[in-house]
Amino acid sequence: MNQTDLEKIYMDCGISREVFLFGEMIMESNKDRFEEIDRIAEFNQLKVIRAMQANRVSEACLLGTTGYGYNDIGRDTLEAVYATLFGCEDALVRPQITCGTHALATALFGNVRPGDEILSPVGKPYDTLEEVIGIRDSRGSLKEYGVSYRQVDLLPDGGFDFDGIKKAINSKTRLITIQRSKGYQTRPTLSVERIGELISFIKSVKPDVICMVDNCYGEFVQTIEPSQMGADMVVGSLIKNPGGGLAPIGGYIAGTKECIENASYRLTSPGLGKEVGASLGVLSSFYQGLFLAPQVTSSALKGAIFAACVYEKLGYPVFPDSVSKRYDIIQSITLGSPEAVIAFCKGIQASSPVDSFVSPEPWDMPGYDSQVIMAAGNFISGSSIELSADAPIKEPYTVFFQGGLTFPHAKSGVLKSLQMLIDKGIIQTNLL
Ligand SMILES: *Cc1c(COP(=O)(O)O)cnc(C)c1O
Repeated sequence: MNQTDLEKIYMDCGISREVFLFGEMIMESNKDRFEEIDRIAEFNQLKVIRAMQANRVSEACLLGTTGYGYNDIGRDTLEAVYATLFGCEDALVRPQITCGTHALATALFGNVRPGDEILSPVGKPYDTLEEVIGIRDSRGSLKEYGVSYRQVDLLPDGGFDFDGIKKAINSKTRLITIQRSKGYQTRPTLSVERIGELISFIKSVKPDVICMVDNCYGEFVQTIEPSQMGADMVVGSLIKNPGGGLAPIGGYIAGTKECIENASYRLTSPGLGKEVGASLGVLSSFYQGLFLAPQVTSSALKGAIFAACVYEKLGYPVFPDSVSKRYDIIQSITLGSPEAVIAFCKGIQASSPVDSFVSPEPWDMPGYDSQVIMAAGNFISGSSIELSADAPIKEPYTVFFQGGLTFPHAKSGVLKSLQMLIDKGIIQTNLL
């Protein structure tokens, strides 16, 4: 195949020669960076394989159980694989964990008791946790069960407020929640090294406190995980990085034996814990998804960098910028007008393998104070490790872009979004 063949199939996809060549230039300038990401994926691939070998994953593990799910060897072995992989004593990895929020709620509810206090030393947690904790009044929240909450914001430069954190830790403080990814905020994402530094500080103030890390979107971006740097629990969703795009549902909690046991009594029932929970037919997708996860995460990471480079070159504010180090897979691009974010999302949708013919429109989504537009042509509904973009229709008109099971898909999605902006007359081709 020569470049003309590649150019031709891009043109068949509705992407012009100028846009294709602009993309080629961005590819060229990222060679070294992408190679470094490939090396991390290579390391993590071997880490996953070794964890599977060490726990003697066999063909029988890929089958599932029904009913109570007693003695589900595939489920129990997968949990041992996660424990090895994350450097923990134990893990819960279940299709009964419905999403990331549920995994986090299970970890929290299982490990605190009335009168305890939770502290977030990294500012406001992810939106959905506000209702779990009771930061926003909500029925069934931890607050209703007599668990209080305290927060210490990051300093204006993104650093930890060590003095403030020390003052906030008191005799009631039982659990510290640390969110690794910036989520949809504009603070920097925390590296595993920085999380480790924060945890050692906290443990020096109060050694018996439980440190939990919301690991969503961070898995496999680096070669170490927060649980290898002192976290007592790491928590995440299987329809993000560790599910590798194949897991159709699920969440995980990996951590100390005691924390996992406590969480298991909350997930199922006191007395039953980890012993019940049939895996039905999902185990082979959990195993195979985990096997693919390092590669899939690296594809999404390259996609985010490619998007940052494209839009930064065209003069749009992007976060993170095209050169800074990355610790999660989310990219934000501020396009500055409703027309532009809508055109961007339409481009992502049009490049999808599923529902490519659907045109996303802004709508009044429950829980948001403005209209929201979402683009995703997914195999797994709502999976944000698959190529997806969403944007609230409000100032400053920022779109959040993430995922891509393969880098070529992420790249073609970014180029298609650019083509849409050009076709709408929002970007002039002479800028390319
Ligand atoms: C996705 C995410 C969650 C959980 O979200 P769900 O949609 O419930 O899976 C929590 N924290 C962070 C940082 C996330 O990115």
